[in-house]
Amino acid sequence: MGSETKERKMNDFEKEIAEISQAGLHSSTIDIFQLSLGLRCNQQCKHCHLEASPQRPEMMEWSIMERILEAAKTTHCQLVDLTGGAPELNPDFRRFVSALRKEDLQVQVRTNLTVLLEPGMEDLPEFLKNHQIHLVASLPCYLEENVCAQRGQGVYEKSTEAIRRLNQLGYGVEKELPLNLVYNPGGPFLPPPQTALEGDYRRELGQRFGITFTHLLTITNMPLGRFRRELGLQKQEENYLQLLRQSFNPLTVEGLMCRHQISVGWDGTLYDCDFNLALKLPVNHGAPDHIQRFNPAELSTRRIVTGEHCFGCTAGSGSSCGGALA
Ligand code: SF4
Ligand code: SF4
Repeated sequence: MGSETKERKMNDFEKEIAEISQAGLHSSTIDIFQLSLGLRCNQQCKHCHLEASPQRPEMMEWSIMERILEAAKTTHCQLVDLTGGAPELNPDFRRFVSALRKEDLQVQVRTNLTVLLEPGMEDLPEFLKNHQIHLVASLPCYLEENVCAQRGQGVYEKSTEAIRRLNQLGYGVEKELPLNLVYNPGGPFLPPPQTALEGDYRRELGQRFGITFTHLLTITNMPLGRFRRELGLQKQEENYLQLLRQSFNPLTVEGLMCRHQISVGWDGTLYDCDFNLALKLPVNHGAPDHIQRFNPAELSTRRIVTGEHCFGCTAGSGSSCGGALA
């Protein structure tokens, strides 16, 4: 009776996980701190799960950054991954990056590329290079039409121009200055195999613009935010959720990003991942849910908060901020 009650309360994703581990999904380490420095962005993409835009006022304050710095030092994490919105638009961005690097913490910035061409950002690429920041940049296709359809008119031209400038500094060329590009599908389907698509990107971007990059990361569109609304408008919501569910791949579970990282929202709230942040589902199951109460022992083995959106991470080859998982 007790186990039946427990069974009924499980969501579909937890049921799949229970087939692999009765204990449910738990984190195993905190190798990565992923930080949302704010929801302001110079773009307003159709697929944005965070619904970032130029109008969003939410911004991480320095006092939260200071606390994160302490927490990251305590855990000896491998990477501090800065995202947003456009993280570069946070007024304390450079101060924070400098402070993290001073502590010898490796920093990665998720850039939308076009922000590097905004007024006042002219010297930002050099700043990033001088601090040996790793870059991950969105470019959801090598074709202009597809990029502009998802991310807005003019974004393709500006993005390729930004990559050209980064290449000139050594990004995507020198081993110490990685520039990884991110692909996500232009509709309700799974990404193609990462390695084959990387070859296509390399050839097409090389021939068209003479630009280069380090690796391509393929990411599945999560059924959240603007992408979910778009699915609803096209009456594709149920079909897409069904596709994600049916494509569950148990081999992706070990590498799920929530098992190896913690996500910190602009106001210091702790989440298992950026997608739970978008859904406003903080860390739970008794673990502390704010950076002010950061406790590495409790958080590194916390039980993960899951939902139907989690099938987006386990479908097909899997998906994470670092690309495919299997
Ligand atoms: S997807 Fe990225 S670049 Fe586009 S609006 Fe969202 S945060 Fe900005
Ligand atoms: S959506 Fe987040 S919590 Fe769910 S499986 Fe993916 S990374 Fe883990």
